[in-house]
Amino acid sequence: MAPHLESGLTAPAQRTVPPLDILDRLPRLGWAADPTPIQAMPELAAELGLGWLGCKRDDLTQPGSGGTKTRKLDFLLASPPWRDAPKWISVGAIGSGHLVACTAAAERLGRQLEAHLFWEPLSAGVLDNLAYTASGPTSLIYHSSRVALALRRPGVLTALHMAGVPVIPPGGTTPVAMLGLVRAGLELAGQVHRGELPEPQRVYVSLGSGGTAVGLAVGLAIGGLRTVVHAVAAVERALATRTRLRRQVHGLSEYLRQVGLPELADVEPNAVVINYSQVGPGYGRASGSSLDAVGVLKRQGIGLEPIYTGKAMAALLVDAEIARRENRPIDAWLFWNTVRRPEPMQVADGWRARLPPALIARLQNVEGLTGAHRAVKRSRRWFLVGGAATLAGATALVRMSGYPSLPRWHGREFTAAEAHILGAAAEAVLASAPLPTELTAIAVPLDRYVAALPPRMRSDIHALIWLIEQGSTPLVGQIHRMSSLPVAARVAYLKDLLPRRDVIGDAARGLRDLVVLGYYALPMAWGSIGFTGPLVPDMPRPRRPTYAQLVAPAGRLPNGMRTE
Ligand SMILES: *Cc1c(COP(=O)(O)O)cnc(C)c1O
Repeated sequence: MAPHLESGLTAPAQRTVPPLDILDRLPRLGWAADPTPIQAMPELAAELGLGWLGCKRDDLTQPGSGGTKTRKLDFLLASPPWRDAPKWISVGAIGSGHLVACTAAAERLGRQLEAHLFWEPLSAGVLDNLAYTASGPTSLIYHSSRVALALRRPGVLTALHMAGVPVIPPGGTTPVAMLGLVRAGLELAGQVHRGELPEPQRVYVSLGSGGTAVGLAVGLAIGGLRTVVHAVAAVERALATRTRLRRQVHGLSEYLRQVGLPELADVEPNAVVINYSQVGPGYGRASGSSLDAVGVLKRQGIGLEPIYTGKAMAALLVDAEIARRENRPIDAWLFWNTVRRPEPMQVADGWRARLPPALIARLQNVEGLTGAHRAVKRSRRWFLVGGAATLAGATALVRMSGYPSLPRWHGREFTAAEAHILGAAAEAVLASAPLPTELTAIAVPLDRYVAALPPRMRSDIHALIWLIEQGSTPLVGQIHRMSSLPVAARVAYLKDLLPRRDVIGDAARGLRDLVVLGYYALPMAWGSIGFTGPLVPDMPRPRRPTYAQLVAPAGRLPNGMRTE
């Protein structure tokens, strides 16, 4: 803590009124003006063995349909460059609450929004949010995945302007936006001071881009509360690191200094504990425990969703159970509800017609599917490919042009560029095998095979192809993308990646297996393993010894295949 704050607030025990008005001197729209209610949940507290449990009802912020994002935009949109721009650009998953908040803000303030969307599975509320975003003063641009977005429009994720239009970064997290959460921390301190709740030992809050948790940790400290922030990650570990939060604390502190509040800039933020235990199957995907937690708060009359808030509440439930078993008494915990109000918003009748065609097709495809594809078990690590590729994509020099046009390529699943990459990978993986003259021949059977897979697997396969293709720069410092490297360099690059025990290794092994699969589907490859061709019904069945001839000696690899 800084030794002396303006209000003389130094120790929590003093319980002086926190300096809420300090921040109110900075430009803001005046949203989230009234403190949101604290809802005590005595029966649930008793059930869990907690002394006190409450919910900070940030779903009730005004205007619009509320949510914590309102607090960020309150400060962000009142400051340049966003303040003066007729149009903003932002980005989020198709069911993004952030894009809903930006759309509502654009509507209210008479601006336009260019929304870059990427796919996420259709859990509760996703379509409602998409419908609202599509109904507003928005133009929608669809990218099949976070990876595709990072590769095609890295500026949306990293730049402050694109062609002169200011970008609201993912999750709306910027230093000025975090002021909204600093103010929220002060607001809570005021409520503690007025006796609306006991000083909580912990606040549980969802962690996406991090702005909420970081702003709160700073605001609670300025407000003189000792509350520890338990930030429950809704995104993969690679996207929710301590380093990232530390950078945000630093950015916020620099900003406070710039706007003439050095006494606040020097306040040491409250401790933030990052809890990774609830990410489950990955960002944008519900988990069993998040759905359970949504149900638990529904009984208290509070509507959560399973992607952010359900996971944060699930972590609280688990920690309470652990404390109960260890006989650790807990005085007071607070759950910070970040989601907007669940009631339906006004949407335009024809909102679906406003979606980009590729998104319409994908929605129809998924909505038409039964539960069958959901039963397909996939390794958890695959879900991480998206996250890692987003990072690689955002930092890579993006080189999407200059692929041969391949006039004879007519893939259902793979673009000509992807077919070219698969061919280039085959040349490296199968360097000593006889290869077809036209390398993209390997992509032909793969195209048929992959097109029939469930959507999530297909998008992971596209992701891994591009991750390895573009990864040559961020991962090993090559200037060229994988397919433009000389064969020897390509071999060395893949050799480097194959033994890795992380997502990148998974992607490299996935690509290797894919091209091997494509290769052995080609009749020209059959001879090398002694396979004489697929059986046709009226062909005499081979006798057993023929089969025995096809079995390779133990430890022998297919010709041309390399060990890791
Ligand atoms: C955006 C969002 C969060 C995460 O906030 P960050 O500041 O991005 O960490 C949590 N919950 C909901 C409902 C959100 O929309």
